Amino acid sequence: MARVREYSIQERLESIIKLQKIDSKLDEINKLRGELPMEVQDLEDEIAGYQTRIDNVNNNIKEIEDYIKQRKTNEKEGQEALKKYEKQQNDVKNSREYEAINKQIEACELDIKEAEKDVKMASAQIEDREVKKGETDVLIKQRQEVLNIKKEELKKIEAETEKEEKSLSKERRKAEDEVFPRLLVSYNKIRGSFRNGLAVVSVERDSCGGCHSAIPPQSQSEIRLRKRMTICEHCGRILVDEELTESITV
Ligand SMILES: [Zn+2]
Repeated sequence: MARVREYSIQERLESIIKLQKIDSKLDEINKLRGELPMEVQDLEDEIAGYQTRIDNVNNNIKEIEDYIKQRKTNEKEGQEALKKYEKQQNDVKNSREYEAINKQIEACELDIKEAEKDVKMASAQIEDREVKKGETDVLIKQRQEVLNIKKEELKKIEAETEKEEKSLSKERRKAEDEVFPRLLVSYNKIRGSFRNGLAVVSVERDSCGGCHSAIPPQSQSEIRLRKRMTICEHCGRILVDEELTESITV
């Protein structure tokens, strides 16, 4: 059976300070990457959006082209009919017949004109879509250039920090094993509640190193004695004395 490990207050303090120091270094690395990973993701999403826009415009252009084809066929049919009627008009027997054919011819001419107008309008629509497509292409190109730069930056930072991060992560696993389990739970909880990720802070100039609230002299001497764990009553962080913090290196 595994022996339940005893943790002296001194050990608890030292182990948690060490873990905090490692975590702060890892936080620094992440800060170095900063917003880059998110910016890269945003740019990729933006470009994908533009690509969808272009696909939609292409589909729309295809529809308009089909419509133009249809109307051109109508125009051609109209012209053929017109020829037929004009020929018939030469062989009319009376003015009534002539008038009837004349009406057909007029209707035909109107149809042809309508078809021509539609083709012209639809062609203008295609031109308009092509302009929009061109504008979107420019946007894609611009965003792609920025994306490439950001990706390159991120790659560089990752390459620079990869080794350090790996060794820190390894060290962290070891350091974590040294922390009294219940203390680790509190530490993670406190750390998660602060943007700067500081759960363990030193008393600096009679104040909490986290929230800068004054620490009463009585508490300060208790912290220095390392006889029990002390929590800042304002921010809830674990308080340790500066000397101990400085004695622990990562
Ligand atoms: Zn505090």
